[in-house]
Amino acid sequence: MDKPFFKASSDSEAEDKMLDMGILKYKEVCPYCGSTEIYHIRRNHIKCKKCRREWSKYKDSLLENIRIKPLTFLRIIEKIAEGTLLKNISDDLKVSYNTVLKVRNRIKNQIIKEVFKLENVDGNILIGIKIVEDYLKFEVVKNLNFSIIKSNNVYKIGRIYFIEDYEDFDHLIVISEESIEKLEKMYRVPNIDDFKNEIKQFLEDFSDKIKRGKIINSPTILYTIAQSALQYKHEKDYIVELFLNAFQKA
Ligand SMILES: [Zn+2]
Repeated sequence: MDKPFFKASSDSEAEDKMLDMGILKYKEVCPYCGSTEIYHIRRNHIKCKKCRREWSKYKDSLLENIRIKPLTFLRIIEKIAEGTLLKNISDDLKVSYNTVLKVRNRIKNQIIKEVFKLENVDGNILIGIKIVEDYLKFEVVKNLNFSIIKSNNVYKIGRIYFIEDYEDFDHLIVISEESIEKLEKMYRVPNIDDFKNEIKQFLEDFSDKIKRGKIINSPTILYTIAQSALQYKHEKDYIVELFLNAFQKA
């Protein structure tokens, strides 16, 4: 078995870790009267000395919104970082699919921003991949230039087009909400074994996720690419840290 991330083995350890990282914050004033004279009563509850009202210490925190315990939250993050499908995470940890989805959605935009420097995801998305020594470099491309595409260089995986040798890039990924007529006429189904080794691992991982996860919308496809790219380049702990950073502003 893998060593669990942060070595947190209980909810209170996980909670301390989240407090340390600033992911979890507790109110230091009474949410009803604003008094700072508050104290902890029974497990997970706080009471105001002045107005005598009580509230859950998780009130308005990340954990209240998602409705999970601290350790479960860390485990979900860890499994997402490992690239586990959301459905399997839900089964493994016995939490609802929607809860896992909520956590993943919070991470999604942060990761897209980190990997592609993209703030908004809409319309067609073009991502150039360049093999630089032993890693893959990703770059957002503005417009698709059909005149430089050779018909034998177009592939399709799911609803994503791949164009080999596009401008400076080894590959161009084209994510489109609708099929692109010109590319529809050109594409063929790729034999992933034919690709360069550097890109093979990435493509296998990515296309497997697209197929098994039934991933269809553009931001999710982009997130999946970003996630595969991160996994290709970094250790799990780095990815977990990055994901957790997405929650620090919360
Ligand atoms: Zn009060």
